Amino acid sequence: MKKNSKTNQDQGYVYDACVIGAGASGLVCGAVLARRGMNTLIIEQNKKSGRKLYATGNGKCNLANAVISDSAYYANGFAGSVVTEGSALLLHRYLEQAGIPLTEKNGYYYPQSLQASSVVWALTDGAKLAGCEFQYETEVYGIERTSEGGFLLKTRTTGKDAGEEETVLCNRLVLAMGSPAAPHLGSGKEEVISTLLEDLGLGYQPFEPALCPLEVAEDVSSLAGVRVRARISIGLAMDRPGFGEDLMEEGEVMLTEYGLSGIVIFNMSTMIQKGEQVSVDLLPLWEDEGKWLEFVHAQEKKRTLFGILNGMLHEKLCRYFIEKRFEEKAAKRPVSTFSDEELLDLFRNLKDWRLTVTGKKADMGQACRGGVLTQLLSPDTLQVRQDPRIAVTGELTQVTGRCGGYNLMYALISGIRAGQRL
Ligand SMILES: Cc1cc2nc3c(=O)[nH]c(=O)nc-3n(C[C@H](O)[C@H](O)[C@H](O)COP(=O)(O)OP(=O)(O)OC[C@H]3O[C@@H](n4cnc5c(N)ncnc54)[C@H](O)[C@@H]3O)c2cc1C
Repeated sequence: MKKNSKTNQDQGYVYDACVIGAGASGLVCGAVLARRGMNTLIIEQNKKSGRKLYATGNGKCNLANAVISDSAYYANGFAGSVVTEGSALLLHRYLEQAGIPLTEKNGYYYPQSLQASSVVWALTDGAKLAGCEFQYETEVYGIERTSEGGFLLKTRTTGKDAGEEETVLCNRLVLAMGSPAAPHLGSGKEEVISTLLEDLGLGYQPFEPALCPLEVAEDVSSLAGVRVRARISIGLAMDRPGFGEDLMEEGEVMLTEYGLSGIVIFNMSTMIQKGEQVSVDLLPLWEDEGKWLEFVHAQEKKRTLFGILNGMLHEKLCRYFIEKRFEEKAAKRPVSTFSDEELLDLFRNLKDWRLTVTGKKADMGQACRGGVLTQLLSPDTLQVRQDPRIAVTGELTQVTGRCGGYNLMYALISGIRAGQRL
């Protein structure tokens, strides 16, 4: 029991509301609940709030996007009902009142300080000033329903005196535990999160890595460090109803020792499965192979094919592809020694470089797919339809956004909505 809590001799102090998780959504939800006059306790397993938030947007915290669209989420329509033009306005007002004025670059919103820490501090101060109590270094590991219609949370300490068990009682419950992504940032453990959802009888899709780099079967280690503008397509040959244009995206791709990285890859990783192929178009600006051939023919005949290709592609890629398609020294041969058929074949290889995905770099991921099934939740309030005393917010719900501030925008808006109505 917290030292400053009022106690009731029969059963102990009963909070109006408990929020499990002092991340983005838990902090705003707790603040809104407390402002409504509820005695609110936020329980956090880490030593301080928002550990993951500190790392967002490379430390700058990209917390919203100017483009509001359901297609920015892999969530079959649910996220679009939560993140609307209206709720985005509400979020901007909320952040401004919390002392976080925003600045925008290419549609991405950041705090004007360009420091994620300022967001963590402002949201934590906001919750404290609204009257929330915090219990840090405390993990909730089990939940029971009480005969009075409330909840008994089983907790254990995680700090120096790890393992000390206690119970906390509350009438309303907010599940804001996020996902197990990025465990090095103190994320909730998958087995504990699953246990809590099972204790409450809430259906969920198991978590799997999303927004992460991809490992591929082919040896691309010689290309590590190359950054290239490319168009990525996945599963084009497969029947994947509901995803449509999301199967193709253009942007900067980074080649690594083990495979592919970069924002475009992160977005694609959310949908691709191990064993599937990715098609990388390394010449997205050249659609017409006839025009490309004309361009090559118009060059000085004695120039090497490598030299000509190098005008449009990173040199490591030029060498890799010429030597892969032809013999080892082909990069040094004059362009006139290649037939049209060979040149077109090279062009097609560059337009459709097939790589087989062998894994996802989960440890470098920014999110997970999976979580509490959205059909169980009301998009207006994030309350569980069958038990409105429980709300589920942020990444713990079955919503994953694309890169660009969409995940934090959803987490924050869902937290505000839940706090207003629970
Ligand atoms: C490296 C990185 C960069 C990112 N950059 C961006 C970005 O720029 N823009 C963007 O929109 N998104 C970004 N994200 C994603 C974003 O951080 C998350 O989607 C968002 O934080 C989710 O908010 P949340 O409140 O649902 O969960 P979280 O912020 O993860 O908070 C959950 C909290 O619950 C606590 N918790 C879990 N289980 C328990 C338990 N059993 N008992 C007690 N406490 C518990 C955790 O310790 C954690 O503090 C990034 C993620 C990573 C890892």
